[in-house]
Amino acid sequence: TRTVGILGGGQLARMMVLAGAPQGLRFELFDPAADACAGQLAPLQVAAFDDEAALAAFAAKVDVVTFDFENVPAHSARFLAERVPVYPNPDALAVAQDRLSEKTLFRELGIPLPPFADIRSRDELAARVGEFGLPCILKTRRLGYDGKGQFRLRREADIDAAWTALGAQVERTGLILEGFVAFDREVSVVAVRGRDGEFRAWPVTGNWHVDGVLSVSLAPAVLSPAQQQAAIGYARTLAERLDYVGVFALELFCRGDELLANEMAPRVHNSGHWTIEGSETSQFENHLRAVLGLPLGDTRMLGHACMLNWIGAMPDATAVLAQPGGHWHDYGKQPRDGRKVGHATLRNDDAAALAAGLEAVGKQLDRGDQVAPAADALRA
Ligand code: ATP
Ligand code: MG
Ligand code: MG
Repeated sequence: TRTVGILGGGQLARMMVLAGAPQGLRFELFDPAADACAGQLAPLQVAAFDDEAALAAFAAKVDVVTFDFENVPAHSARFLAERVPVYPNPDALAVAQDRLSEKTLFRELGIPLPPFADIRSRDELAARVGEFGLPCILKTRRLGYDGKGQFRLRREADIDAAWTALGAQVERTGLILEGFVAFDREVSVVAVRGRDGEFRAWPVTGNWHVDGVLSVSLAPAVLSPAQQQAAIGYARTLAERLDYVGVFALELFCRGDELLANEMAPRVHNSGHWTIEGSETSQFENHLRAVLGLPLGDTRMLGHACMLNWIGAMPDATAVLAQPGGHWHDYGKQPRDGRKVGHATLRNDDAAALAAGLEAVGKQLDRGDQVAPAADALRA
């Protein structure tokens, strides 16, 4: 038996453990939080990510290390990589952790993206706002997730407010200003690359966010074949340049015929949860196959799949379970405002039937607003 070590013990680790069990894989988890939810399913070592003695002990227990959490300090990943194979490699992780280096790489690779600039001072912010035009978004370069560490500037007067909100972070996380994209849609490419360089992508997924947090994902996204191909091509170029091994996501904005890259996530991704029931091989299984050097599984899907995130607290499962192709995931977390505590996936061969199922669930769970865009897309 082989043992996979996972840094971070959240729901992504939990779903990896569930995907690895049929293959007889064992897991060891490492997380600073004693109540990390994957710890309900596999042994959990509780320590800080930069505790080198704990990391060395962890490395001794496992055959390979991977991540559920993208913000593990790069030096900790490098420390582990001196002791045990680590995938994705720590350099790829470091690039994806910093919006400035990731966007600089996108530009170098010819992947289109909105204008961006490193921001060191309030004056620089004002100058770049003048250059890009309003609206813009000021973001922390590092450590942001679920839309945290962002400030949207709509008018000149917001420059001071933005600097008040985030200026104090300039030393700790760095800051980046981005042009605001008035997108029609958001999509993501979830893809996997093996140790031997084999590359596969799932159908591009359409995503809807509420307050910066992913709310609903629909696969396949409504996208022209040319856009599908371009999006997957960008993901492949990126993976090859980074010598990336494992699953990752590339988030993109669609504006008319244009595709503009937003960010990459160096791990299995929330917008790929539908692959558990909606695809021949899930993102979690393929991630494990990739980091273990095994052949990758087929990424094709049948029909249509839609995932709904449960944020804050779990609703009642009955409405989802009563649907054909309805599947329920409860991460076993304590309820807390803004926290991802579970999700549901509805799958159906028929787009109109899935739209109707979504609307029924939306109505029963009082989430009609959230499911409406996906139902409309399915009927388009
Ligand atoms: P995640 O949880 O996906 O890692 P994050 O905190 O890293 O989120 P982003 O993905 O950069 O943040 O932004 C969150 C959401 O905010 C995006 O999905 C998009 O809806 C909106 N957004 C971010 N940047 C822009 C932009 N430049 N133009 C328009 N909308 C944007
Ligand atoms: Mg992010
Ligand atoms: Mg994002």
